Amino acid sequence: MQIPGLCYISIGLDDFDALKYGCTTHLATYILNELPKKLRNTVLLFDYPNLVRLNPSIPWKTRGNGAIAIRLGIPCEYASDLSVLMQIIEELVEDYINRFLSKFDVRVPDFEPGLVIARHPLSNDLASLYEKALTDVVVLDHSFISKLMRKGFMVSQRYGRRGIIGASAAIMWLYKGRDYTFELLTYRSKKMYGKSRCIDEESVKVFDNLTRGESFNNYDYKENRILITPHGLDPILYGVRGETPDAVKKALSIIKVCEPLVAWTVFRSNQATDDHAIYRVAKELNPFKTCRISGVVAEKPAIVRGGTVIVKMFDATGEVLLAFFKPSQLFNIASVLDIGDYIEVQGQVKLWNNLQVVHVEKIAILNTSITYKCRPPKCPRCGKRMEKKGLGKGYRCEKCGVIIFNPELECKKIVRGIAVKLSLPPPHSQKHLMKPIDRYGKERNGYSYELLPVTITTKIIEPLEFL
Ligand code: ATP
Repeated sequence: MQIPGLCYISIGLDDFDALKYGCTTHLATYILNELPKKLRNTVLLFDYPNLVRLNPSIPWKTRGNGAIAIRLGIPCEYASDLSVLMQIIEELVEDYINRFLSKFDVRVPDFEPGLVIARHPLSNDLASLYEKALTDVVVLDHSFISKLMRKGFMVSQRYGRRGIIGASAAIMWLYKGRDYTFELLTYRSKKMYGKSRCIDEESVKVFDNLTRGESFNNYDYKENRILITPHGLDPILYGVRGETPDAVKKALSIIKVCEPLVAWTVFRSNQATDDHAIYRVAKELNPFKTCRISGVVAEKPAIVRGGTVIVKMFDATGEVLLAFFKPSQLFNIASVLDIGDYIEVQGQVKLWNNLQVVHVEKIAILNTSITYKCRPPKCPRCGKRMEKKGLGKGYRCEKCGVIIFNPELECKKIVRGIAVKLSLPPPHSQKHLMKPIDRYGKERNGYSYELLPVTITTKIIEPLEFL
């Protein structure tokens, strides 16, 4: 959609959460509410702000490796020289940080924020950046930054540290049609930071029932626990995820909270899509890559310290070690695998005791090998069961002395406690990117490059308590 006089830009943000109590989505909510005022309400928000999860195995992430992209239509006078807009956003960020710092002793050592602005149309040459940051390690060096700049990105000089990887990758999420979901994030009063969250459990179940099929992972009925609240110091009160903005916004009127809810924002996200689980073969695996890989079980599973199950698998290119850890609850399935089973797993490659292993987060058993238990035949003369006499020595009847070298053994198929099926960890152990079972069949591969204006996606209800 092209509106005369408006030029399109994307703002990318990442790694502002290292402020204790901070969170990059919180800063994004502040910018979304304040930037229009600074630009005299001449901006139009295109699309819901994007909350883009990146490689879950990156060791230097704080929590869920989330980055933000905000898509705006702005008067072309601001877009022709991005430095004016950059300065306005930097001032907002500075204001945000100063207000945090004046209230709390919050700056922590690994503060590596990144702020970038990109002019649209986005360059084809950066099309692979999102997938690389989602599934592998991106190196922040001079050539990375100069490529961004050549392709129409402006990198903040004030906030141009490691976070620019996530910030620019989030912007490039737009590029290809991909599956997506929505998340409503609500924020706490700053007076409540560090205290336990107060949410009415029954109302979460009501929300879950009323939005069944449109929202997911709200409540774990087996464990009787709420799944929508984080447990850290961050400013998020709760977050609900679903298929549409309307579905997740219903939470605002249904979920009852017993502490102030001071702001909210609806994000479009790659969460719950399995977008990180890309197909790889054994020889392509390296530490910190994410993968989906299929192969044949090569040895009987080994159970090691802590109950972790290790399985060796091979494909046409080599061998892979798979690790099934206790919290995923997949170790029950892993421990009954047998040689010859054909499986597909998804997970992240990590080093474990100096060995490269795939930390498995999902397993699908595609085919089970058939195993038989065999015993010697009966003696054809007297009917007594014969005995094996060692390699190459055949079977002998102890009663009448008959020897047979290649008898037909009596074999029975062993019934295995394992079925051809997909298994996921329980909802409370599912990480951000993992597609829950409820979403299978709901995938939309249509995150359109065409941006549409959206109106009500964020609100700061209590400005004095928000910041
Ligand atoms: P939160 O979920 O609370 O926002 P976080 O888990 O997103 O926190 P960050 O503090 O943002 O953690 O740290 C992630 C850092 O890793 C960022 O600086 C980001 O740019 C960088 N990063 C993300 N993906 C990659 C990647 N694939 N390769 C290299 N660096 C990456």
